[in-house]
Amino acid sequence: MDSIKNNIEAIKKEIEGICLKSGKNPDDITIIAVTKTVDTDRINYAVDCGMTNLGENKVQEIMDKYEPVNKNVKWHLIGHLQTNKVKYIIDKVELIHSVDSVKLAEEISKKALKNNLIKEVLVQVNVAKEESKFGIDIEEVISFVKTIAAFENIRVKGLMTIAPYDENPENVRPIFRQLRQKFDELAQMNIPNTDMKYLSMGMSNDYAIAIEEGANMVRIGTAIFGKRNYNK
Ligand SMILES: *Cc1c(COP(=O)(O)O)cnc(C)c1O
Repeated sequence: MDSIKNNIEAIKKEIEGICLKSGKNPDDITIIAVTKTVDTDRINYAVDCGMTNLGENKVQEIMDKYEPVNKNVKWHLIGHLQTNKVKYIIDKVELIHSVDSVKLAEEISKKALKNNLIKEVLVQVNVAKEESKFGIDIEEVISFVKTIAAFENIRVKGLMTIAPYDENPENVRPIFRQLRQKFDELAQMNIPNTDMKYLSMGMSNDYAIAIEEGANMVRIGTAIFGKRNYNK
């Protein structure tokens, strides 16, 4: 448990350092603690250490953890979302980071209407065009955002990407930079029902570079909780 606390303090300190160097306010950076495979005692300990934004990539894990985890948290759905599972999490998550099809956006809007909600979403962009990853091609992002912004019960609040893993995160800087440019372009366009507020990029390996390139949401798992054990 102590290591969780130390890890969080070290990450916060590093983010403060990056912000200081680049004239940003550390309070503008949201750390999302990625809790996949982490048990609820350890999650609650991280919440006590100040991690109030939690990220999961599976609907089932949010469902399982929703009750036992401290209620003062905001859940973020950061992984691929199937349309038939939207109904389970629509009233549980603060932000859906992984909108990658018109069909999914339409279903989120439908279920949001049913629950009397306006649901905030990010568009996932596959900047590096990796076959193994979900997301919209960067060339298609503007037309995609225009299309889904027409659905009344969602608000497009920004963009998200998962950079390819690279031992030297400096190598993925251009990926982050491209997404930042698209984000700025969209912000200037002022498309109705959109508000470019969140740029979700950077994970344990590359969050420092992502913040330098303009990320204001970083999704950090391993660097907080240690290596994941998937065979529990
Ligand atoms: C697992 C995951 C993360 C966190 O990865 P770490 O390398 O453990 O920090 C971030 N984003 C998404 C979408 C993930 O699935």
